[in-house]
Amino acid sequence: THFGYQDIPLEEKQGRVDDVFRSVARRYDIMNDLMSAGLHRPWKDAMATALSPSRTRPFKHLDVAGGTGDIAFRILDRGGAQTHVTVLDINGDMLDVGRERVPARHAGQVDFVEANAEDLPFEDKSFDGYTIAFGIRNVPRMERALSEAFRVLRPGGRFLCLEFSKVDMPGLDKVYDLYSFNVIPQMGKMVTGDAESYRYLVESIRRFPSPGLFAQMIEEAGFRRVTWKAMTGGIVCLHSGWKI
Ligand code: SAM
Repeated sequence: THFGYQDIPLEEKQGRVDDVFRSVARRYDIMNDLMSAGLHRPWKDAMATALSPSRTRPFKHLDVAGGTGDIAFRILDRGGAQTHVTVLDINGDMLDVGRERVPARHAGQVDFVEANAEDLPFEDKSFDGYTIAFGIRNVPRMERALSEAFRVLRPGGRFLCLEFSKVDMPGLDKVYDLYSFNVIPQMGKMVTGDAESYRYLVESIRRFPSPGLFAQMIEEAGFRRVTWKAMTGGIVCLHSGWKI
């Protein structure tokens, strides 16, 4: 790898990730639009649509690494009056921004919990759905996060994960490399004064397992009927699984 972050001990990884999101929380939403050229919106829409919560029955959902609430609000828009979403994040600054952004029409349908994806503060079988978007890559022990997801879902519950993936389109891969190793750190520096953190995030995308391998990890956590769908030439991938 280019920058040598692979040598960072596991215990320090979370600290580094936390630094990034603490420094960027207030500018996170605008950074997302800038860096993805607005594409994070249709990607997140696709995730919420894939979940399609019931519009008529109660639906209790958990959005992990939920940050400023983008996924939660999209799920609430697709659900009914009995849909409830818990946004969980390890970073209180991100959650503060989320609390301020709750649309009036969804007040009372969402709550915010500061906790670690590796150690969820909920009882077994307490949710109908679990989502994690652009979050699992940052969790040091991914397999712990996956088995926690499995534990808190009720039988019949749905797991969805949206994450950056491997670009598999000739031509686009070159553009993407240039973009992520040069443009992203520069943009990060312009907006937050910190290019290093963004290099770290870009590198973590490179080290994330291939869709097939990640699907296997999801199965190892206990999920069944695991499938995935690449979007935008493989820039992101949506994995799905069921607790049977
Ligand atoms: N899901 C949101 C979205 O798509 O806009 C936020 C994604 S943001 C790129 C990653 C989030 O993961 C940050 O808010 C960060 O604080 C959170 N995070 C990192 N490590 C975590 C952990 N171990 N447990 C819970 N959240 C974590």
